[in-house]
Amino acid sequence: MKSTLIKNVRLHGQTGSQDILIEQGQITRIGRALSAPAHADPSNANIVEGHHRLALPGFIDGHAHIDKSLWGMDWYENQVPRELPAIIENERHFRRHNDFDSRQQSERIARQAIRLGTTHIRTHIDVDTEIGLKHMEGVLATKEKLAGQVYIETVCFPQSGLLGRPGTLALMDEALKLGADYVGGIDPSSFERNPVAHIDAVFDLACRHGKGIDLHLHEAGDLGAFSVELITERTLALGLQGKVTISHAFCLGEVDAGYQDRLIEGLARADIAIATTAPANRAVPPYEKLRAAGIRVTAGNDGIRDTWSPYGNADMLQRAMLMGLKYRWRQDRELDQALHAITQGGAEVMGLANYGLAEGCQADLVLLDARVPAEAIVEPPRDRTVFKAGTMVADRGECLF
Ligand SMILES: [Zn+2]
Repeated sequence: MKSTLIKNVRLHGQTGSQDILIEQGQITRIGRALSAPAHADPSNANIVEGHHRLALPGFIDGHAHIDKSLWGMDWYENQVPRELPAIIENERHFRRHNDFDSRQQSERIARQAIRLGTTHIRTHIDVDTEIGLKHMEGVLATKEKLAGQVYIETVCFPQSGLLGRPGTLALMDEALKLGADYVGGIDPSSFERNPVAHIDAVFDLACRHGKGIDLHLHEAGDLGAFSVELITERTLALGLQGKVTISHAFCLGEVDAGYQDRLIEGLARADIAIATTAPANRAVPPYEKLRAAGIRVTAGNDGIRDTWSPYGNADMLQRAMLMGLKYRWRQDRELDQALHAITQGGAEVMGLANYGLAEGCQADLVLLDARVPAEAIVEPPRDRTVFKAGTMVADRGECLF
């Protein structure tokens, strides 16, 4: 495998430009005026001029739905209602009447993410009694096809309900056998209307297959908080600390301060991670309080250009900006937290061992024209050069494969 020497890039918080030496897909040295290793055959060493651009670790989309994006298809005229069950029914209706190829679509949106610097994605994949495992199979094919360009982690997700639709539980079981990395779940109280049974079923699947859990929780206020309590109790009782993520968890931003503290204390004890998409229309989990309690927090793009919503473009820097706006962050120091959520925070939630822009880490990185991360977040440059495990996979904002 070729070694690569990236010359003249700037690292956040460090003065001047430095070089990054990559060997066997790993960053082996960062320093000034490095030369290609003496043992390397000169014809086998890539030299990339960094032009003093900012180098950031590869972005992590910690909550995506790449199985259902309409990216690159005809424009979908959105007339979707606002209530969750109606949105879900609308999506099933769309699938009944349209040819939708989840393999093709997941690849399209993944390529869009890659060219914008995303090197890791955790995606929730619909499993239901109408589409069966079609989306699961589609995304797994994309995961394999793009393995050299992006790492895709899969969650089998009972979008239409787990127990309310007989047959879904058996499909979830099959999805896990097929290779899903996590068990998903959805609003145990408000949507499934049977919180203990739903949580029992999700945790049972996880235990039987030795997998982690990532559960959607849109439930508001005290109802959502009740679900958080149940999930926390169950995580502790089954010894699944560090293996559970709650996605959205809007309720954490809605309950009163004392209750919020108690919930956070429980989440920290159970080492439950939080994934936020920082939506404009809902309360958000208290980022700083969660992090101060030692809770791992990742950010994600959620659905992009699908029957739910026309928004999104797979850019994690744009997601970081939306986080900044939602959390009312203005200071550079505050926006660095948004950068953390789309990089290190995601790595902590995914449990990536050697992630980061440091010697010994896998060489997943992005070069872009910005003076500091805050500038990249408020005005995301389109022109990006992306490396995955030391291989340049995108340049000038376009995929190279
Ligand atoms: Zn979601």
